[in-house]
Amino acid sequence: MEQEIRAYALDIGFDDVGFTTADPFPQLSQALEEREGGYCWVSSELLQLAHVADPRFVLPKAMSIVVLIYDYYKQDYPPELLGVVGKAYQSRLYVGKKRLFGSRLRLMREFLQEKGMEVGFRPSMPERQAAVRAGVGNFGCNTFIYSSGRGSYVAIAAMAVSAELEPEMQESASKCPADCRRCIEACPTGALYEPYKMDPLRCIAFNTYGPGNFPGAPDDIPHEIREKMGSWIYGCDLCQDACPRNQKRLEKKLVPDAFLEEMAPKLAPAALLNMDDRYYYEIVQPVLYGYIWEKKFMQRNAAIALGNSSDKAAVPLLGKALADPQEMVRAYSAWALGRIGGAAGLKILEKALVGENSARVENEIRLALESC
Ligand code: SF4
Ligand code: SF4
Repeated sequence: MEQEIRAYALDIGFDDVGFTTADPFPQLSQALEEREGGYCWVSSELLQLAHVADPRFVLPKAMSIVVLIYDYYKQDYPPELLGVVGKAYQSRLYVGKKRLFGSRLRLMREFLQEKGMEVGFRPSMPERQAAVRAGVGNFGCNTFIYSSGRGSYVAIAAMAVSAELEPEMQESASKCPADCRRCIEACPTGALYEPYKMDPLRCIAFNTYGPGNFPGAPDDIPHEIREKMGSWIYGCDLCQDACPRNQKRLEKKLVPDAFLEEMAPKLAPAALLNMDDRYYYEIVQPVLYGYIWEKKFMQRNAAIALGNSSDKAAVPLLGKALADPQEMVRAYSAWALGRIGGAAGLKILEKALVGENSARVENEIRLALESC
């Protein structure tokens, strides 16, 4: 059965497959308890991470876990999206069943069911820990999983199944050189504060989708973090791109992804800030769906990126966004205008202050005026 599962998974495009028991992952529960502050949002209905540390929460009859590895660095990413959208998000890994990755997961699930197994799958399953235990990946100090010969640009899916499957490989240990700290040094916010430890509340990737969106997460992105987010609007790859274990991968010349090349200008922060619903639902959301479910979060992230660009050409766009019906968009656009500074921004902010009726936005405008 293990051979059949493996052959089918490789046939539909996964790159590696492993098996492990459905025993709980006590180290995950322990880590969540120890770092409760940073993980205040994980117990939400959405993720229920504390529960999924036991695969039997997902599937009461679970006996094994099938771990699937998908290498998402098979084509070159457009340079325009470098530092803007994380590679995992550009790869459409987090979009629904009508895209390739979602379809592969559906096919795999159906295959296992046809073989008589019950299948439990949740994207929040402890997939990284399962990959290590199944011997198909090992942790890097940056908390990402490295798959042999592929680096860390891999997506992992863990499916709990009701059949007893024989693990083929041994648990894999980290292969990071003892003296390497490049990922920690590359992290602009200090989110990666020591090897294998990351504070999500400081992580740029989390801040592009968590605040105001995930139940239990903070409402706002702290000013100090906004300034360090640079041009990222979704995700962040810095601690992976800096890693020597990924360099061969990054240096390899691949075929460009024609679809992404066409999409790249449409996903630029300047194109997103004042987009209408149609643009969001027809162009942006089908590609960058995942953790961001509302247009305003993309607009917020676009405002931050434009603010950090220091580009005066963004001032009129941000001025227009100060009239957006969403309080969040107005608040972050005010911040961005203050960050860019200058007389034109000052004038726009003063005018906006007069007509503003939200205390939150008013506060951001006043702070922005002080920086202009
Ligand atoms: S994803 Fe970015 S912000 Fe998050 S830990 Fe890595 S480098 Fe730091
Ligand atoms: S940068 Fe160095 S320490 Fe960090 S994950 Fe890569 S090899 Fe490990």
